[in-house]
Amino acid sequence: MIMRVLYVTSEIAPLIKTGGLADVSAALPAALIAAGVDVRVLVPGYPQILRALPQLNDVALFALHDFPCASLLAAVLPDGVRIWVLDCPELYQRGGGPYQDEHGHDWPDNAQRFGLLSKVAAVLGSSDSSLGWKPDVVHCNDWQTGLTPAYLHFANKAAPCVMAIHNLAFQGVFPPDCVAELGLPAQSFQMEGVEYYGSLSFLKAGAYYADHISTVSPSYAEEIQDEALGFGMQGLLAQRHEVLSGILNGVDYTEWNPGCDTRLAQEYTAGDLRGKLANKIELQMRMGLRVDPEVPLFGMVSRFTFQKGLDLVLEIAPELLAMPAQLVLLGTGDADMQRAALELLHKYSGQVGVYVGFNEELSHLVEAGADVFLMPSRFEPCGLNQMYSQRYGTPPVVHATGGLKDTVVDCNVATLADGTASGFVFSPADADSLLLAVRRAVDAYYDKKIWHALQMNGMSKDFSWGKSAAAYIEIYERLMRR
Ligand code: ADP
Repeated sequence: MIMRVLYVTSEIAPLIKTGGLADVSAALPAALIAAGVDVRVLVPGYPQILRALPQLNDVALFALHDFPCASLLAAVLPDGVRIWVLDCPELYQRGGGPYQDEHGHDWPDNAQRFGLLSKVAAVLGSSDSSLGWKPDVVHCNDWQTGLTPAYLHFANKAAPCVMAIHNLAFQGVFPPDCVAELGLPAQSFQMEGVEYYGSLSFLKAGAYYADHISTVSPSYAEEIQDEALGFGMQGLLAQRHEVLSGILNGVDYTEWNPGCDTRLAQEYTAGDLRGKLANKIELQMRMGLRVDPEVPLFGMVSRFTFQKGLDLVLEIAPELLAMPAQLVLLGTGDADMQRAALELLHKYSGQVGVYVGFNEELSHLVEAGADVFLMPSRFEPCGLNQMYSQRYGTPPVVHATGGLKDTVVDCNVATLADGTASGFVFSPADADSLLLAVRRAVDAYYDKKIWHALQMNGMSKDFSWGKSAAAYIEIYERLMRR
């Protein structure tokens, strides 16, 4: 019998993306389908999605609790993935982003917006659904779908569910009145339920009621059981450690592969790296840097937040640039960090390039055109850019945390000898150790033999989705057997 999985997510690349969740939501369902699973991806009907998918068919209508009426529309994506779009103009048809308005403020009705998404997923996963297609497992992602396991818990004949945590720092915490507004039973508002320090937490609800919890790297699965990175949920997660697993995200090599990446100035492969230099020059020109094939060029693509450690990069920038080196920053986020990045740009024009905003094409060019990729995240559940950069022959400098620790091997005598060295790993997450790692990277860069070995080791790594998809299927099978 073919296994059926309902995959619920608040973003999916390339239709709507604010971060790694979108990449995962595009690639994992496709990998599951390739492994023989029948998948439906449920997403909110944002304008970007409705515009991109003109061929939508009506599937069902929902009038649930106090939520506005919504309809379910079906389409097939170009890669064959079947998508269900939850159309509810009152909640999703607006400008701005999926979670925030144009000024970066959270939408005030986010509890309703993602409560509805969670509720519809639970209806589809229970005997309340009138559709012929019923999932064997519901796979939820992050806080936006965190109420699904809670709704399923109180529904009839509910499918088992997996709660995937891509970043525990975002929890979807709302005032207690939302419990009744969202149609959750009053008795669920307690420590053994959806309550989180007096508020309603979507993610806590998911972690409490889900049959299985997954997160996106083995190290992060351990780290979130401790106070430092548990964001107040470490007790619950440690208590549920037997149903908590860490499965590394993969890379979609149809999107992220320098050998067939049309966004690049020139494609290249491990066998012939000459095209990489063309990308460096293109990047230098695009970002207003002095064109210089020799100088080490550091790149960073990131949300500008404390988590990602951009402040550490800004702190060491004078020393880094004095090596000498160049620096390219692409990102958006915290207003103070954006301002500080632009100040750096003005102070070091020709040596620093900054693009404030989201630019998919430029992100590929940075991966390809930089010599070294910077990812000094204070914590990182999995991280994708460090895997992309290894594939693009751009060794990353990373903090030893979460998925960064699990995917980058520090360059030293032993790892160069055994052919595993693929980047520079530092700890603790402070400016001094970052600077030390950056110096090590620059020294290695000028040693052609070492640098080439590092590039080859990284480029030959296999981070494809097949292995991760198989690990999820194993979890689904376990849940279905129960
Ligand atoms: P997170 O999901 O925490 O933001 P990840 O490394 O897992 O971090 O994934 C980030 C994804 O978003 C990557 O695909 C990265 O290239 C992309 N990204 C982040 N910021 C930008 C930006 N400003 N422009 C283009 N792509 C970006």
